[in-house]
Amino acid sequence: MGYAEFYRRSIDDRDAFWAEQARLIDWKEPPRTICDHSHPPFTRWFAGGTTNLCHNAVDRHLKDRADQPALIYVSTETGAERTYTFRELHGEVQRAAAALKDLGVQKGDRVLIYMPMIAEAAFAMLACARIGAIHSVVFGGFASVSLASRIEDATPKVIISADAGSRGGKVLAYKPLLDEAIRLSSHKPESVLLVDRGLAPMERVAGRDHDWAELTGRHSPAAVPCEWLDSTAISYTIYTSGTTGRPKGVQRDVGGYAVALAASMKHIFLGEPGETYFSTSDIGWVVGHSYIVYGPLIAGMATIMYEGLPIRPDAGIWWSLVEKYKVSAMFSAPTAVRVLKKQDPAFLKKYDLSSLKALFLAGEPLDEPTARWISDGLGVPIIDNYWQTESGWPILTIANGVEKKSSKFGSPGVPMYGYDVKLVHESTGEELTRPDEKGVVVIEGPTPPGFMQTVWGDDERFVKTYWQTVPGRMVYSTFDWGIRDEDGYFYILGRTDDVINVAGHRLGTREIEESISSHPNVAEVAVVGVADPLKGQAAMAFVVARDASALTDDKAKLKLEGDIMKLVDEQLGAVARPSRVHFVNLLPKTRSGKLLRRAIQAVAEGRDAGDLTTIEDPSALQQIRDLMGPIQK
Ligand code: ATP
Ligand code: MG
Repeated sequence: MGYAEFYRRSIDDRDAFWAEQARLIDWKEPPRTICDHSHPPFTRWFAGGTTNLCHNAVDRHLKDRADQPALIYVSTETGAERTYTFRELHGEVQRAAAALKDLGVQKGDRVLIYMPMIAEAAFAMLACARIGAIHSVVFGGFASVSLASRIEDATPKVIISADAGSRGGKVLAYKPLLDEAIRLSSHKPESVLLVDRGLAPMERVAGRDHDWAELTGRHSPAAVPCEWLDSTAISYTIYTSGTTGRPKGVQRDVGGYAVALAASMKHIFLGEPGETYFSTSDIGWVVGHSYIVYGPLIAGMATIMYEGLPIRPDAGIWWSLVEKYKVSAMFSAPTAVRVLKKQDPAFLKKYDLSSLKALFLAGEPLDEPTARWISDGLGVPIIDNYWQTESGWPILTIANGVEKKSSKFGSPGVPMYGYDVKLVHESTGEELTRPDEKGVVVIEGPTPPGFMQTVWGDDERFVKTYWQTVPGRMVYSTFDWGIRDEDGYFYILGRTDDVINVAGHRLGTREIEESISSHPNVAEVAVVGVADPLKGQAAMAFVVARDASALTDDKAKLKLEGDIMKLVDEQLGAVARPSRVHFVNLLPKTRSGKLLRRAIQAVAEGRDAGDLTTIEDPSALQQIRDLMGPIQK
């Protein structure tokens, strides 16, 4: 069957299509209703069915591949490297589950996981899934205030953490940050379970803090059966990156998610049981949930969990792992590829990459030069995929497992099966059907399996935020701009927030940024719209120069500013020309590497910067504040 027909069936014959996909996983009780959309925009998948994510990721494989690798843990920070077979993983997860039960954790209780990339973090997630506890993984790089707001929101009974993480050889103690976060939060966990890696000293709070090794060691061996859960029970909550505002707590189900992942591994990610998958993300992000932990394991693959930088000990580290573990599919982000691009390209050729079938990239727009560079360097297909924390798996990409299709540079691809993706006019809500018309990317309900159920604890925010923004119709807004070409390939043009209106001309910040990046002395750039008394808005650019040594005095800065303005004039026209080009050492980004344009814009307009709990380095924003000087109203 060709992809076009496969896709049509998923929309026109939805229940039959997904009933078939549901057979990719094990059920205790088979589903009674495939898709219940009786209370839109809420969608309940596979109601009446009971299953378990941990069973599908671990126990199910004991029959055929107990002694094959399941979890391969590699840390270039501590030098640790260990492979767990499915049998061993099964043992570890049961011990962790027994420890959680000792601490009184029951089905439906929340467990917050604030951990570095260590094997115990995966054991903890799977242990929660096993007993029906709802996990909420918080990225280990967050500090107390961000962590506190998530503790407050998730109200966990237990928090699992560790003494420390490590980044680029620098130890980052977690325990003091955790203690401070618990102090700041009005909700207090009953217990804290701590993995001691021997990296940093830990003060323990008597009666509250417990030792992971000790508690899990008491249960050796342990037999904790999987709890059979309703398909629509809650598996976990996870927060969005906070690029456009206060992070949203995304809530996900059990059965729909398991089916969505099993199907995506087969149709999109070329997942074959017995092969090895390597996703370079972090368990704190949705990619880590779907494609480090659950997806590959559900597919019966070994999954690599990597703690460390992509360039340490050198820029060949990832490729050496591909060679060593015969990685068949890899998943990373454009931001990581840009890091590698600054290194010697010889590293891409140093190792035997013959096992590798494709490199999948997601998280941000993948610009053509970056895609070409990595594609030429590795000699494997680069597959861009567009999705969100909310969706749990790709919305736009190409499904090479269904039909081999070539990708087009600059486009993540076509709508994935199950997603009724449309482009609509932002103010009239009218559907745009002609090629190259620019509109908001929306999804018509019911949303497919794996998609968020609601905002955790806030159905109203779910409906209001996502489903009531397009006039006249109830559709899910992605808040991204896109166009579709005559072959049905989509192009993402940026966030709906990122459009600026200069004297009635609507300009995408991404277009202006791409133009500015083509200047040889521009390493990185952010463009925002700033209120302007004459034009409504004006574009303002913040640039990190490739060679800042030449920018010592104001004359040199003015010269480069002028050159950049001229470049934009030539490429896009004078309306797009930034009113100012400021030079900074670094740009404010989220911990997941996304530009915080809304914070830059707020500061440039003299407003409060808003929620900054996910910012990587606050000094980046301070630089911009300093540049703006005393606020001119
Ligand atoms: P928040 O929703 O809290 O503002 P966020 O949208 O950055 O943060 P994520 O769910 O991590 O949180 O990111 C999803 C967004 O990332 C998408 O809506 C899109 O803007 C961008 N994105 C992801 N993948 C791609 C891609 N392949 N091409 C272009 N943009 C992408
Ligand atoms: Mg978002």
